[in-house]
Parts: sequence; C-alpha cells; structure tokens
Amino acid sequence: MPTSPRIHVQPDSVTDLSAGFLTRELSPGVFMVSNGNYQTLFLTTGEGVVLLDAPLPLIDHLREAIADVTDEPVRTMIYSHGHTDHIGGAYLLAEGIQIIAETGTARFLAEKNDPARPLPTTVFDTAVTLNIGNREIHLFRDGFHSADGDTVLYLPNEKVLVAIDLLARSWVPLLDFDLSENIYSYMGAFDRFLEYDFEYFLSGHTADVARRSDVELTKRYVLDVYATVKRLHDQINTPELLAQHRDSEQAGIKFVIEEVVRRATEELSSRWLDGPMKGVELWTESHARAMVLYVRWTD
Ligand SMILES: [Zn+2]
Repeated sequence: MPTSPRIHVQPDSVTDLSAGFLTRELSPGVFMVSNGNYQTLFLTTGEGVVLLDAPLPLIDHLREAIADVTDEPVRTMIYSHGHTDHIGGAYLLAEGIQIIAETGTARFLAEKNDPARPLPTTVFDTAVTLNIGNREIHLFRDGFHSADGDTVLYLPNEKVLVAIDLLARSWVPLLDFDLSENIYSYMGAFDRFLEYDFEYFLSGHTADVARRSDVELTKRYVLDVYATVKRLHDQINTPELLAQHRDSEQAGIKFVIEEVVRRATEELSSRWLDGPMKGVELWTESHARAMVLYVRWTD
C-alpha cells in the first residue's frame, strides 16, 4: 500500500481530512472512505473491488481513494437504499459493472427512472450471500430507514456490519431519527443488528468508525425517547386535558402533540444534553415529534 497521510491503517487513528477525504483500513483490504460528513465502504476481493453506494458528496474522491490502495477495478456496486444522497453518484461509476439491490429499492428506482441512479443488474429478495474472490459478503433486506427497503451488508470473516443511516458515532441521530420512514422498524433495528458478531459498524456518516458500544448507546437514547414520549402522551391524553379543547377535536390533537413534544424535549435534554452524544439541542425536539406521531397512531 502506498504511504499517504490520507490513508489510515488504524481504524481509530486521528482524523486528517486535509486531502478532502480519508481512508481507514478496517481489516486487510476492507476500507471506509469519508469526506468527514459522508462515509462508505469498499473492499478488494482479488477479482475486482466491491463498492457500497456512490454518495454524491464523496464521488470526486472515490476513484482516487480506491486507486490509492489497489489496482483492482470496481466490478460490483451494492445499493444500500434508493436515496439520492447515498447513490446519486452511481451513474459516474456504473458502466459495465454489476449493480446489486433488493427488490423494494429496485422497484422504486424503476419507477423513478432517474439517470443518476442506474437500475440494478442483479436483484435479490430478502437475503443473498456473495462469494467473490476471497470474500464472503452477506446482504439482507431490512426496513429501518427507507420505506422502499434497506440493504444491510455483513462481512462475517472481517466482522464488519454496515447499515446506512441508522446512527452517527458520538451524535444523536439526525433529524427525525435520521429521516427514518418506519419508526417501529428503526427502534427494533438495534437489537436485530446487535445479534451479529461484528467489531466495526458503518452507518454512512462522519469520518469515524462505530463499534458495538455506539450501537448500544444510540439504542439507549432512542428507547429513552420512546419511553419518555409514551409516558407523557399517556399523562396528557386524558379527558380533563382534552376537555379544554372540546369544541374542536383537531385543536385537541394539536395540543397533545405540542405539549408532549415540549415536555419530552425538556426532560430528554436534562438527561442527554451534557451526555456522550452531540446534537441534542439540534435534533431531540424532532425525535420527540416523530415519536409522538408514532406513539399516537402506530404503536
Ligand atoms: Zn437515506
């Protein structure tokens, strides 16, 4: 491997983004590449590079990052889900390569017919194992983030699990639980993923590599939001409080939502604002709001 300040052979080494991006080697031939905000994974196989996604903000650096560490050409791209920010650069790398996606993502992309997001050449239903060169790559369908479908990638031999848009290390989730389109599935995803034997966890954002403890910490925060919102909703959703708005049922619903969001944000902030994760002042209110909608209408 060529030596370069932008290549970090230790996954947790210092973050140096002076080149505009950095590459961390998680296991021999398995790399995370990041520009600081977005991250993704690529790996050598002996028979061509396998790349997960082609995030538009990273696209200018992807070829360079791959060429820094291997002579193998990109032969396979896997879509984590259909959102433009993670696969909107795919058209720049797609020519002549295999593109893999699960059925829901494939259906969505076929309907969108967006030239920036080329259709997959290989579609799988619930799970598939790829044996390419010296690698065993497990892909399975989940639904914690995109309503159309998410693909989770697992490397059992290298102990790497990749679930894009679940969390960001040392941050609370972004707006609305990282824009999850299914809060029920999102809340259950932490336990589903913790069942796997992994050491490194990639989720698509920041230049850091998460570990099991980060998945456990974010799970604790998310379940605290759920428990807090549920308790406050049950307290407020009473005949006496609703009677204050008895002339309009819709005004009563608005009152319940706003009161729960206000009280939950205050309570959660008192527990998490000076805690181990940044972003409470930015996103916790949106978490309370997303959760009260879930608690009231879906739970
Ligand atoms: Zn997304």
